[in-house]
Amino acid sequence: MAKMRAVVYYEPFNMKVEEVDIPAIGANEILVKVKAVGICGTDVNYYYGNTAVMTEDGKGPLILGHESSGIVEDPGILGASMGFKKGDKVAVNPFAACFCCVPCLNGEYNECDNMRINGVSVNGSFAEFVKAPVSNVYKIPDDMSFEAGGLAEPLACANNSVRKLHLQPGMTTVVFGCGAIGLMDVQLVRACGSAKVIAVDVDDYKLDMAIKLGADFAINTVDKESKYYTENIAAKVRELNGGRLAHRALLPTGAMAAWHQALEVTRAGSTIVYFGQPYSADDVLHINALEALTSDRNICFAWLAPLVWDNVFNELASGQVKVEDIITHKFSLDDVVEGIKFMRESKEKKIKGMIIID
Ligand SMILES: [Zn+2]
Ligand SMILES: [Zn+2]
Repeated sequence: MAKMRAVVYYEPFNMKVEEVDIPAIGANEILVKVKAVGICGTDVNYYYGNTAVMTEDGKGPLILGHESSGIVEDPGILGASMGFKKGDKVAVNPFAACFCCVPCLNGEYNECDNMRINGVSVNGSFAEFVKAPVSNVYKIPDDMSFEAGGLAEPLACANNSVRKLHLQPGMTTVVFGCGAIGLMDVQLVRACGSAKVIAVDVDDYKLDMAIKLGADFAINTVDKESKYYTENIAAKVRELNGGRLAHRALLPTGAMAAWHQALEVTRAGSTIVYFGQPYSADDVLHINALEALTSDRNICFAWLAPLVWDNVFNELASGQVKVEDIITHKFSLDDVVEGIKFMRESKEKKIKGMIIID
């Protein structure tokens, strides 16, 4: 069996570069030579033991990494019949639905009963090769960078969240959290018609980036030294918005303080979409029942990224969503552990780290 280099996770703080078998593909699978992989919060949480891995027994060994792009190594039988060839530039959707269960047959692929997720429940892309079903492999244009293709997955999640906002032209939208997905959301809510985009974070570096990528205003809710600092976020939103609260709030953050602030900055009839992962399984969102009722609000949640993948590549190719500035740090396959530690522990200014495999 041919071998490849991969970074294998065994248990928290135990992950190492090893020689392992190249994945054998089934008739409906494509083998991809990995070129770029994003380091996601999920990878960081797995490494530090903040969340249990989603393998059947909740344990390693598991190759992490789920935000990847690369080139087709072997298109497989079905892939070849659908026009995939060795050498095609592709991005991989890590969420493989079964297309057979009741949620799948209802089009709710994100709630599939038999979901297999590269790098989360089955082997992923911190490796020279990864396999995925044909339905999860997308050709990308030759002039699109592997880095951009690797960010298709978080961008797909951002798209799903914005889809649920039901934006209309002229609306004011507050985006809480300006990490990689938040910075994509800032651009997407603008593209979907928001006339005013207000970005909220606790870090001026990220807020400066949000302004650079199209936000009109920035609010720092914590750092009193910040030029964007405000003590009363609802009053500030009113001030920035002609005396009225916002039409929409989007939360690509799991910070409960922000989840509650979203209720304060939005008006009657507003829509709020929550989709950042809460930091703790015990976190609770408190909503005043009477106020929620009489303000006729839509309080929504967005999970994963069904039905949006097609659009993602148009956004990247057209420049409607720019991701170059979002990728702040790059590491090699040998330095995955270093990269993960850097993303969690380093005080350096950073947004997204990526693994680049030559
Ligand atoms: Zn991710
Ligand atoms: Zn299913």
